[in-house]
This record gives sequence, C-alpha cells and structure tokens, in this order.
Amino acid sequence: MEYAILNGELIERKDAKVDIEDRGYQFGDGVYEVIRVYNGKMFTAEEHLNRLSESCEKIGLNPGFTKEELKTKLEQLIGKNKIGFGTVYLQYSRGISPRNHAFPGSEVPAAFVAYTREAARPEENMKSGIKAILTEDIRWLRCDIKSLNLLGNLLAKQKAAQSGCFEAIQHRGHTVTEGSSSNIFIVSGDKLVTHPADHFILNGISRQKVLEISHENDIPFEEKAFTIDELLGADEIFISSTTAEVMPVIGIDGSPVKNGKPGELTQKLQGLFLEKIEKECGSIQTGALNS
Ligand SMILES: *Cc1c(COP(=O)(O)O)cnc(C)c1O
Repeated sequence: MEYAILNGELIERKDAKVDIEDRGYQFGDGVYEVIRVYNGKMFTAEEHLNRLSESCEKIGLNPGFTKEELKTKLEQLIGKNKIGFGTVYLQYSRGISPRNHAFPGSEVPAAFVAYTREAARPEENMKSGIKAILTEDIRWLRCDIKSLNLLGNLLAKQKAAQSGCFEAIQHRGHTVTEGSSSNIFIVSGDKLVTHPADHFILNGISRQKVLEISHENDIPFEEKAFTIDELLGADEIFISSTTAEVMPVIGIDGSPVKNGKPGELTQKLQGLFLEKIEKECGSIQTGALNS
C-alpha cells in the first residue's frame, strides 16, 4: 500500500484528494519543497524545512506544524512507502475557503500535503552532461519564494523540452538568473560564479551546498550576476538542484560549451557533493540502479 500525508494524517495515497476550493489549486497560493532521499534517509532535511518556514513567513502563511513535527511525519511516510532512493514532495496551501483573492481569516488552517516518489540518481546525465536553451526570464520579482505558482518556470521548461533540452537557462536582459528548476554556475578561469541569492533567484539548498564545499576546499567562488556573454564564454557550466545534484551543461542553444564535455572542476564538485550525501545518508553504490 502507498501512503501520503493529508493535513498531517498518514492515509492511503489513493484517498488523498483536495477540495476544489483549496487555494493552492485555485490560486497557486502556497509554497513547497522537494527533498531527496538516499538510502531511505532525507538529505539536508533541516535546510529544506528551514526554507519552507521562510517561504511561509514571506507569504504570511501560518504553518500548522513545527519543523520537528514535519520531519517526524516525513520520516514515517518514507518508512511506510519503503523509499530507498527517491524524493519527498511537500506543500502548504493557504487552506480551503470560498474563492476570494484576499486571504481567509486565521480560523482557516493551512492545508499540508506530502507524498513520495521513487527515483534513481540521474547518473547518465550527470556523467555525460545535459543541453540547455537560453530564454528570457518572464517570472515575477519574488523568485526567492518557493511558490506553487510556477507558470513562468513551466513555460521555460516546456520550451527546453520542445528543443530536446534538459533545462532552460533564464536571463533578465543580459543578466543570467537561474534555470527553470535549478541554479546556474559558471567556471571562469579557476573561479566559480553564480547569481547572488536575492529576489531574482531561488536560493537552492544544492546551490548552498556547492558554495559550502567550495569554501571548505579552497575553490575560489563569487556570488555575482554574470551576463549571457560570460555564460557563453565560460570554461565550464553546471546546474545544481535537489534532483540533478551537480549536473554538467555541455551545450547551449545548439552550440557546445568549450569542447562539449563535462568540465574538470564540475566533475570534482560532483565527487565532493557525493561525499556530502554519503556523510549524511550512508554510502552509495554508483553505477548500480540505486533503488
Ligand atoms: C527548487 C528550485 C531550485 C533548486 O533548489 P534546490 O533546493 O537545490 O533543489 C532552483 N531554482 C528554482 C526556480 C527552484 O524552484
């Protein structure tokens, strides 16, 4: 039997249905997280749950559960569903209430939902690298909130998919911001550069891990906006996200990045990222199916 969490209750997944007047469904009025599971353990759960609290706070949503309560519930869910390698999706919406743009009163509780999915690490793409397109960033000005409102991101990702690409690299004018569901790093000389964590990007937990790893290993880095020209002239490019980890970008808009192969520093960071995972979740067999 597969389970999901609906408003804090562990129930059978097929019974987990939402009301048509759930504000997440009608307005995208809510926030979410995706947490990676390795060896049945959540990776960087603390960081994700902290960011979820921050997202809630930024939109004035009063979460029904503490971080500790959520962590325990998610652990139960992962255990019940026997997830070895996969993801947990969790979201808060601003509850169920007659449709009205203004927020409902405080008597309406936030609605919490979580479910799991099995997924192997994307080893093939991590090894060979992925292709991307460039597209104008048409999203709103609070991209720092992990909002359920993802239309801008979806339109970008669909454009990439239609070009046979894995990701869309978004830019505001000449400035590169982030991917549709990932952060972007370039390697320029021996230095790593990524957009600063301001309102124009979602500050990825994987992004923060890469910066932490760089700091610990004396790899020079800078959080600084860079241009499309700097991107296209970069020695290496990679994206980071919970599901993609550190993923080399080997082509943009049909042209190869340098020699069209994953870069050296990118590969080094992949190895160091895996070490972080293993430190938290135990050793991982690579090259196997992982689930
Ligand atoms: C979730 C997300 C990311 C990556 O964040 P991680 O915490 O590393 O998974 C980057 N950009 C956007 C727009 C996202 O929604």
